[in-house]
Amino acid sequence: MKIQQIVSDILESNTFVIIDKGKALIVDAGAPLDDVVKAVGENKVVGILLTHGHFDHTYHLLEYKEKFKCPVVIHKHGIKTMKSPRLNYGEAFSIKTNDEDYVYLKQDSNIKIGPFVFQAFMTPGHSPCGVSYLIEDDFFAGDTVFHKGIGRTDLAESDDQQMVESLKKIAGLKFKTLHSGHSVDSTYEEQQRNLSVYIKFLSRKK
Ligand SMILES: [Zn+2]
Repeated sequence: MKIQQIVSDILESNTFVIIDKGKALIVDAGAPLDDVVKAVGENKVVGILLTHGHFDHTYHLLEYKEKFKCPVVIHKHGIKTMKSPRLNYGEAFSIKTNDEDYVYLKQDSNIKIGPFVFQAFMTPGHSPCGVSYLIEDDFFAGDTVFHKGIGRTDLAESDDQQMVESLKKIAGLKFKTLHSGHSVDSTYEEQQRNLSVYIKFLSRKK
């Protein structure tokens, strides 16, 4: 399995292209279509996984959908976030979407798309539609966890308590590399430290 990271020009969000056995999965949709097409190469895109509905992760989604014609996996609440410029912070950008070809998640799930067998974990806190994906040893955390830090919890739909539960859930999982919605990758060992700091920080009495 090969993973390519593309840094977008929309708040430097990350889009990932995962390739295995001639098939490709895309995680998030902030990077320009041309860059994604280049990374995909001759492989066939079988699915798009969204980590949440904020505009910097969905900006090019409609273009991807039209080009690749594949299912888009998203949390059930994500469509509401994606359609509301107030909730997805895209007021200054005109983001188009359509209602077709979504697979809606409501709970932790096992998913199979083409050769990819993986798990989706509900990780709300930064956003109620936060979903993280564990594909083999690689964990795609969206804006829930960063290399050194976690996602903001002061946004319109954020929730500190939900974030604590999500961080605890991630701390209990086994993975080798964590890929975040922004910034660089981190290791399981780095995240054990990072997660424990933020679980304590967010759990403090206010
Ligand atoms: Zn976000």
